[in-house]
Amino acid sequence: MPTHPDTHAIRTQTERTREHEHSTPLFLTSSFVYESAEDMAAAFADDSLDVNIYSRFSNPTVDEFVRKICVLEGAEDGVATASGMAAIFATFMALLAQGDHLVSASAVFGSTHTILTKYLPKWGITHSYFDMRRPEAMGDLIRPETRLVYVETPSNPGLDIVDIAELSRVCRQRGVLLVVDNCFATPAVQQPIRDGADLVIHSATKFLDGQGRVLGGVVVGRRDLIKPLYLFLRNTGPTMSAFNAWVLSKSLETLHVRMERHAETAMYLAEALSGHPAIRSVRYPFLPSHPAVDIAKRQMRNGGGLVTFELVGGREAGVRFLNRLQMLSMTNNLGDTRSIASHPASTTHAKLSEDERLAVGITPGLIRISAGLEHRDDILRDILQALAD
Ligand SMILES: *Cc1c(COP(=O)(O)O)cnc(C)c1O
Repeated sequence: MPTHPDTHAIRTQTERTREHEHSTPLFLTSSFVYESAEDMAAAFADDSLDVNIYSRFSNPTVDEFVRKICVLEGAEDGVATASGMAAIFATFMALLAQGDHLVSASAVFGSTHTILTKYLPKWGITHSYFDMRRPEAMGDLIRPETRLVYVETPSNPGLDIVDIAELSRVCRQRGVLLVVDNCFATPAVQQPIRDGADLVIHSATKFLDGQGRVLGGVVVGRRDLIKPLYLFLRNTGPTMSAFNAWVLSKSLETLHVRMERHAETAMYLAEALSGHPAIRSVRYPFLPSHPAVDIAKRQMRNGGGLVTFELVGGREAGVRFLNRLQMLSMTNNLGDTRSIASHPASTTHAKLSEDERLAVGITPGLIRISAGLEHRDDILRDILQALAD
């Protein structure tokens, strides 16, 4: 049996069909047939995933993708969803009830913030935010009705880092669950379950696909927590399509290679851009100047594929920088083979007030770069010419 996760990401697969295909098969079917009425009755009597009934409930291609993520994250069980947001929403819906409370880092993905502030209150579920730069304050926000603590590390786009092992120690002591959105790191870089997290969530749309093709989400972790999530998805329907699972499962075969290259290039850009006269500061988890570099080096294998910098010229300089790029793509996605630049203050976070933006680390001249797989010198050259006077 292979022992290295890199190998599991390549070799974990569904049983071959009688065609003996080498690559992974794609089961594009909405339902599954039975040999007898008795077999069919038995399938419906059982809530487990052992027998495939209908692709909203389970599908072999989707199972293969989930099994791979479980192995990579060191998780007991998991479920896949149509998008990252479906994974996050389903987790809240399955685990929380009216009157429950959760504690979240304030620097969370925009739509996660919308779920917490706009939708969960409709069902009487409330939240408190803590500042990732002062994680010691988190424990004081836990109340008797608090069910879970939710964080993204590194955060988007501030690249704040929290100590997962320390948070999980506090959560365990207080009897609440720790849920980590591991989208920015991926299991090739960071395994929150190993550090004590109960559930790990991904937007598979980002580095897991890694090629900007499909949407997807996944939640993995403790089997007793995955069971209610599975039943929620099975009955409400935001499950992953078999086609997307097939694309994502193939993507995982190159995840480790891609993440090493993304990180190498991001570190190279971070170092090369530090000290540039048009840049006030550069942020990257493995740069010695990152305030949590020690924690990052303890819980991450490398610094990941995202690097941010603050332009001296503020908001106008940010807009000008984007307009001057020749190769880097101007888009809000990340984790693609193609390098991407975005200016959150004028785009993804433009609807927030200045104070709300600053609270999640978005300064007026903040540029976020998702380092792609192009040659690093071509990426750097484009950034430098866009920064030039
Ligand atoms: C993109 C993203 C999501 C949402 O995922 P979708 O697949 O777009 O629904 C959630 N969390 C983080 C950190 C993300 O970057």
